[in-house]
Amino acid sequence: MIDEETKKQLGEVLRDEQAKIEADLAAFTIKNKAAPGGHESILAETGNGSSPEDKADTMVAFEKMTSVEHMLEKRLEEIKRALTLIDTPQYGLCEKCGKEIPLERLKVNPAAMTCIEHAPKY
Ligand SMILES: [Zn+2]
Repeated sequence: MIDEETKKQLGEVLRDEQAKIEADLAAFTIKNKAAPGGHESILAETGNGSSPEDKADTMVAFEKMTSVEHMLEKRLEEIKRALTLIDTPQYGLCEKCGKEIPLERLKVNPAAMTCIEHAPKY
């Protein structure tokens, strides 16, 4: 079992990371409830008369932003989920097999929801 003190520390780590990700997202996205994940990347105006090359660059930049946005949103979801679970006995147990997640793993990633064996492969 994870003791209360450790849970409190992990909760603080999660809240810190949540705040950081929300700030990162706010820097280049707007909140859009209709968009998957709740955010939409925005681009600075490129101005009129930009060449086709500029427009291609803009598209590449936009795609990059969108993939970063999705990565951050995914992480944010994991963190929010962990934060809702942290006050329940469910926290720290693998969601696949119910075994305890090693504390060392939770310290590295307090949002981990699975043991190492059942960790999603990226
Ligand atoms: Zn497992």
